[in-house]
Parts: sequence; C-alpha cells; structure tokens
Amino acid sequence: MQESVMKAWWDSSHMAGANAAYVEEQYEMYLDNPQSVSDSWRQVFETLPKVDGVELETNHTAIRNQFRQLAALGPTARMSSSAGKDGAAPSDDRQVKVLQLINAYRFRGHQNANLDPLGLWKQPKARDLDLSHHSLTESDMDAVFNVGSYAIGQDTMSLRDLFKSLNRTYCESVGAEYMHITDTEQKRWLQQRIESVEASPQISKEEKVSILKALTAADGMEKYLGAKFPGAKRFSLEGGDALIPMLKGLITEAGTVGTKEVVIGMAHRGRLNVLINVLGKNPSVLFDEFSGKHDNTLGSGDVKYHAGFSSDFATPGGNVHLALAFNPSHLEIVNPVVMGSVRARIDRRNDDFNKVLPITIHGDSAIAGQGVVQETFNMSQTRGFAVGGTVRIVINNQVGFTTSKTEDTRSTQYCTDIAKMVQAPIFHVNSDDPEAVMFVTKLALEYRNKFKKDVVIDLVCYRRHGHNESDEPNATQPLMYQKIKKHPVPRQLYADQLVAEGSLEQRDADRFIEEYRAALDHGACVVEEWRPMTEHSVDWSPFIGHDWDTPYDGAIAIDKLKQLAESVSSYPEEFKLHSRVNKVYQDRKAMAAGEKLLDWGMAENLAYASIVDSGSSIRMTGQDSGRGTFFHRHAVLHNQTDASTFMPLQNISKDQGEIEIFDSVLSEEAVMAFEYGFATAEPTTMTIWEAQFGDFANGAQVVFDQFLSSGEAKWGRLCGLTVLLPHGYEGQGPEHSSARLERFLQLCADHNWQVCVPSTPAQVFNMLRRQMVRPMRKPLIVMSPKSLLRHPLAVSSLEELSEGVFKNVIGEVDEIDPAGVKRVVMCSGKVYYDLLDQRRKNEQTDVAIIRLEQLYPFPQEEAAKIVAEYSHVKDWVWCQEEPQNQGAWYSSQHHFWQAIPDGAKLTYAGREASASPAVGYLSVHNQQQKALVEDALTIK
Ligand code: AMP
Repeated sequence: MQESVMKAWWDSSHMAGANAAYVEEQYEMYLDNPQSVSDSWRQVFETLPKVDGVELETNHTAIRNQFRQLAALGPTARMSSSAGKDGAAPSDDRQVKVLQLINAYRFRGHQNANLDPLGLWKQPKARDLDLSHHSLTESDMDAVFNVGSYAIGQDTMSLRDLFKSLNRTYCESVGAEYMHITDTEQKRWLQQRIESVEASPQISKEEKVSILKALTAADGMEKYLGAKFPGAKRFSLEGGDALIPMLKGLITEAGTVGTKEVVIGMAHRGRLNVLINVLGKNPSVLFDEFSGKHDNTLGSGDVKYHAGFSSDFATPGGNVHLALAFNPSHLEIVNPVVMGSVRARIDRRNDDFNKVLPITIHGDSAIAGQGVVQETFNMSQTRGFAVGGTVRIVINNQVGFTTSKTEDTRSTQYCTDIAKMVQAPIFHVNSDDPEAVMFVTKLALEYRNKFKKDVVIDLVCYRRHGHNESDEPNATQPLMYQKIKKHPVPRQLYADQLVAEGSLEQRDADRFIEEYRAALDHGACVVEEWRPMTEHSVDWSPFIGHDWDTPYDGAIAIDKLKQLAESVSSYPEEFKLHSRVNKVYQDRKAMAAGEKLLDWGMAENLAYASIVDSGSSIRMTGQDSGRGTFFHRHAVLHNQTDASTFMPLQNISKDQGEIEIFDSVLSEEAVMAFEYGFATAEPTTMTIWEAQFGDFANGAQVVFDQFLSSGEAKWGRLCGLTVLLPHGYEGQGPEHSSARLERFLQLCADHNWQVCVPSTPAQVFNMLRRQMVRPMRKPLIVMSPKSLLRHPLAVSSLEELSEGVFKNVIGEVDEIDPAGVKRVVMCSGKVYYDLLDQRRKNEQTDVAIIRLEQLYPFPQEEAAKIVAEYSHVKDWVWCQEEPQNQGAWYSSQHHFWQAIPDGAKLTYAGREASASPAVGYLSVHNQQQKALVEDALTIK
C-alpha cells in the first residue's frame, strides 16, 4: 500500500498505538489463511506491497514496522483499548468471527480465568470473550469451523467444542499472558505448548503423589513451627504452599535437562519453609535458632529468615547445586545480586546459560512497587548482565503487609505488568490448583532455556496469617480474612481431589502427614533429594582468615612492565583511532619506551594488564567504563572507519586471564548489586564497579549498607569488589564534587572494607594489584580522581610501579628538614597537590605534608613511622576540601588523634560545615579552595 493510502485508511480507522499488536495478529492470521480475517482486513493486507523474491517473514517484519510507524502517526485521541473492535466495520462471515474469537481468548482469556483461590478478585470483564460480542449465537454452536492456528491438534471443530476448549485453555486455573510478545516464533511456540494440552496436561500418579507430599511438607512445617514456637515470627508460607512443589519440580526439571546450579533469591515470606523443605536445611538447626542458639563463628549474624543456604539436590539428570542467597529486608534488592552470582557461575561454565538457573521469588506489592525490579528487567538482555533469563515467581498473596491489592499498591491491572517491558510471558496461576502450577512451572523453564529470556509465574494465593505471626490481619482486611478462615488448606484440597479421582487412598494422605511430623520430631533433613555439596566449583578456603595487612609479593620486574606497557599501547595497524585517542596512545607508547613519566590512565591499564597476564580475570562495569568518564581510560578502542572495537587488554599474552569491560545500563542500584553478587560468587576474578561520578553511588546506597559493608559480618560472605568513585572538588557544583566519603567512613568497623584515596599513578597501580594479589577478599572503596588524571605532578616512573607496594601513608617528598618543621599537615587526595604547589610558591620549609592514602583500616604502624620524624611538632592540621561535616574529619578524627605525638594539638583546615556538598559558583569555589590551603599552611 502506498504510504498515503495506508495513512488515509489509518486515519479512518480506530487502530493506533496500543492496537498495533492486534493488527499484527490479524496480519499473522491473514498470512496463515487469508480467509481467516474479515473482508475489510483482507483488503488492507492485499494492498500491502509485495517484494519479489523476499521471504514472507522479511515482508512481515517490514510491514510490522510500517504498522508501528503508522501507529506513531495515528491520532492517539482515537485509540481504542479494545483489541477486538474492528473499526473498519467488517462484514464478517461466521468463519472469520470464529477465528477472531480464538484470537480474543489468546489476548484476554486471562481476564476471565479463575485465578484467585479466595474468589474475591474481580477483574474487568472482557466482553470479546462472549460469543455475542462476535455475533455468534446458540444456533452456530454445532456448526463446524476451521480453527486456523489454534494448536489443539485438529483443523476443524464445532463451535461448541471450540468454545469449551478455549475456556478450558485460557480461563481456568491458568491465565496466560503472552500476546504482547512481538516475536512470532515465541508466540507460536507458547500457543503450541498451551493449546495442545488445554493448559492441563495429564500427569502421572507418581507425580501427583510427590506434589501432595510437598504440599504436606509445606503445611506440616508451618503447623509444627506454629505449635512449637507460638507467636514467633516465621513469615509463614501458608496460603502459598504450592511454592514448595513448584520449586522442587522446577529444580528437578532443570536438573533433568542439564542444569548444574540453581541460585535462588527470595524475601522472608516462606523462606524458612523453602530452607527446610527444598534446600534440606536440618530442622533441628532451625529449631535451635528459634530457641535462641546461634553459630557465633559468623560475626554479628542475622535473623533466621534472612539466612542463605547451600546444598545439592538429586535429579534424574544428576545433582544440582542449590544456593539460596542471603538477603536483607529490603525487598527485591536480592534479585540483581542473584543475577550477578549466576553470571559469575555461567562465566565459569564456559558461558553455557542453561547450566545455571536463576530463580527469583517476589512479593506482589514489591514487584510492582520497587524500582530495582525494572532495572533488572532492563539489564536482562544486555551484553554485560544477561543471565539467559530468570524464572521469576511472584508469591501473590494479594496484600502488602496491610495494604490492599488494587486500590493502594499499584496502578496496573496485574502486579506483573512491569515484565511486559521485556516482553516476558506471564503465567498467572491459581495456587489451589497445584497441577496447573506444575504445568506453568515446567513451561516457564522450557521457555527460559529455549529463548534465554525472563519469564514470570504469578502464583495467585493468599496469606493465612498476618504479615507475621504476631500480627492481626482482620484489623485491616476483615472480609478477606473471614474468607481465609473458612478456606481449606491447599494440602487438604489436593488430597481430597486425589482421593475423589481415585489416585490415592485417604489413609495414604493421612500417613504422609504423620510421616512428615515424625521426621521433624526426629530433627533430620526432610528432603529426600538432598545431597551433600559437591557440585559447586569455587574454593574459597585460600581467601579465608586474611586481613588487609596480610603480606603479599606485588613486585613486578621492570622488563615485564615494559613489555606489558608495550602491549597495552598497541592495536592493529589498520585500526583508525580518533585523533584525541590517538594522542593518548602515542603518549602511552612514549611512556612504554621510558620517554615519558606515566599518567593515571596508563598506570591503571598497566595494573589490569599485569593482573590478566598472571592468569587472573577482570570484570569491570560502570557508566562509560570502556572509555572512562573523563576520557582517560580508553581500554576499549573504537575504529573510526567501521565502528568496530578493540581491547588491547584482551591481547596481552597467550595464556592471559579474561578481561571484560562493559559500559553498563544507566543504573546504580541494580548494577552495584549485580557486581556484589558476582564478586561474592567469584574470588578469582577482579570485579570492579565504577560510578560515572562518585555521588551516583547514592543510587546504590542500599547495596553499600545492606550488602557490601555488612555482608561478611552478617553472613560470613567474603567479597572482593572494587568500587571506583570519582571524587574531588573542582568547582563543578554540588552534584559532581563529592563521592560522599564520609558515608563510607561512617560504615567502617571490624575491618569490613578498605577506603583508599590514591594520589599517584604508581599508587593506583599498586592498589589495584594489591587487591588481587593478596589472598584476601574484602571490598575496596576508592575515591578516584578527576583532574588528577591529567595533573602534571601526578605522574610516576616505571620504577615506582615495579616496587609493588601500595603505600598506605606517604611522607614528605620535598627536601624539608624535619628539625625545621613547625607544623605538619595531613591530607588525602587532590588537595595534596594544591598544598604542595602553594608551599613551593611560598618557599616554605616549616610545614611538612603527609598523605593518608588509606583511610580505613587506618594504617597505624606506617603512620607512626612517618610521624616519628616530627615527634617534636605540636601543631598538626587535618586539611580537606570537603565541608567540615563531610569528608574524613569527623569520621576519622579519632585515628588522626591517635597518630599524632602525645601532647600535640590537631586542628581543622577546610570548608565550613555545609548542607550541600559544594557551592554552585566556580568563583566562590576558588576563593574557598585558596582559603583552605592558606589556612593549612599558615602557622599562627
Ligand atoms: P554457593 O555456591 O554460593 O552455594 O557456595 C558454596 C559454598 O562456598 C558455601 O557454602 C560457602 O562455604 C562457600 N562460599 C560461597 N561464597 C562465599 C563467599 N562469598 N565467601 C566465603 N565463602 C563462600
């Protein structure tokens, strides 16, 4: 169709924007069978341009794009949300109407599905699921029609049979939402799987019994805990019991098709049940925890419903390693952690996505309410963060703590609507129908493994008690809880079903209850499939028991350094660099040849080169990490002729370790959490997250607080993540000056992490190497520079790099006789160069300057050695660029006092306290900077 003709048709139609999917569907039906659409649609499609010799699907894609463009042009004011209305007013014959009916069920059957076990949830009525909407009547019921692509396995059916079949498939316990997927293969695949068995496949007696046993365990566990520890918080699963057979089924199925590791992330709801009934935690250990006993080898510890666990699980395809991630109370934040952990395991297993399965378990209010969920969906298909799809399960108990489902928790029809942003299929399922639950579970796994995409199961259930067991839910949800009180438990319902259909004797169902209770009394593992761990592939033991001052050998021979320097500054001859990048690389070549001192970018690249050269791997992500926010790194080169890329660091030596540097999605929270997950699963890869500007780390505050700073203390989990946070007062205003050093220092205790402020290229080189060479895995927080990247004084020689030592404290570098010193200024970071420059201009010899390059753990011994030279000095100053209430002054002052000689006084030179991190005016910034430097150097 000529664009003008098409546009004219469009303008006269109700079709636009939101209806594009419907138009596509009509077009697909037309491609299958031109007679299956109304005359008016057929006319439209027949006039579409035909391109000789081009594949049908190519045409289809081009035309689909045409629809999209037109949809964008279309008058949105006239959009109709009813996908079934044909604005072109077709003169339908009955066959067309029948095919449209099938289509309507595929689109909207889920709205009529029986999803809520309590029967309280009322969905908007989908009128196009009524025969009358399609002008079909009782008199048409026995007529036989072609069923088009309806994948029931027969070409024709009576309307009566078809209508029943459609209702069975789309409107019983499963509400399948997948028509938002634009990829025809995926859509057809799902239709085939769902329609061929009417969403309810036959299952064996054996499987039925195992489902009932799992439901018995789920129910038995909660009842046992409720009786033994009445009122104790356990965040019972009751109401969502189907989660247990679901998880066991999912793991079994995954193992059968070759999965070797499963990493699970979940919040508190039902966690104890999962720990005991899926992961095989010993119940007696849990009972001890309820009684207040604890394993004090794990630092400060955590509550039992946040604890992680690892075990193996036997399946017909071999043992599968299970890891339940430790998690804090912050709902949903564990999901990117799980993804990161999975990515590390996938990397280890030669990038085979199907060898490792991430399962994340969400709450209905949380999945809709927490922004980090969107971030993880956005990451799910990107180069740096893909994990081959996550199976996401929502325990949809239709209430968030005390907040009711629709009016207050969300603005979407389903809690899962966010998943549509990546066109994930969503299976809503009534949790009181465990066989339907098993059907969607297996389907979800098969989809994830085939298409490597996220998939969502919305387990619609209820919560038998309040948010926790001491809560009173009737106060806020009276009608719901009156209903719940009378509602039989899932085990009971399913046992009755199996007895009624003759699959089981009542006495067997009763026996399962007794056997489970006896097993709990016995205190031993209750999961038949549990096996001791053998499947996980990383040995953490070399890294356990080391602190930051563990000795290490970081020295590197000058010749080796020169060779590495040559490699990091080389690229293929035909590769055409941008002129500015070319200049950087010419300089690097001169540095490699010893003709120039090394700058920051070169030293940093050399550190990475030396690490991969020794066989370790590196993973770095961050906003703009390939190039570097400040045009200094250029680890990824871009060919100006064809936009291809080249990484010198991937071409260091034959047996080098891998290095990957990814520019990340524009997120801090999920990306940081992902990298935390990666680093806690992989100690042999140097993992680095870089913020574009240091203060962007604010967006990941929960990850710093709940995981990075405290994960080892709470859970005994080591993490060697390095975090680069550009920091420095350069007059760029409140937002880009401060990485909020004070916040990191305030979280310091128990040697939980290291906070460093390197001031020279040699220091950054040796700091990065130390982090990897030393057999210790603790987070490293780095206040990394901006203007220092190009500061003429911030340069180092190859010899300084080769020493292999990160100096935690650097003493005076100028020729200043300690005996003549009357004041010592201590500082960190960029301000050092301002002080040095001014002192040289002043030709002062009575002030010495000491740099603290590691603020935490405070290097007391190294500081003492340097301070000893000035033991006669009584006037000590801490100088910082940050306002007084920020930076290191308040957080580290106790260390400074401890470091200076007895009887000396310590004063402050820096900006006044301020609510904002920095002023917004360059002239004021300059005045302040000048004043604080003068203040530090002026002996009163
Ligand atoms: P996972 O594969 O996560 O289940 O871990 C298997 C085992 O390795 C755990 O039970 C721990 O003993 C150990 N482990 C895993 N991650 C860490 C870590 N970050 N720090 C220390 N030990 C770990």
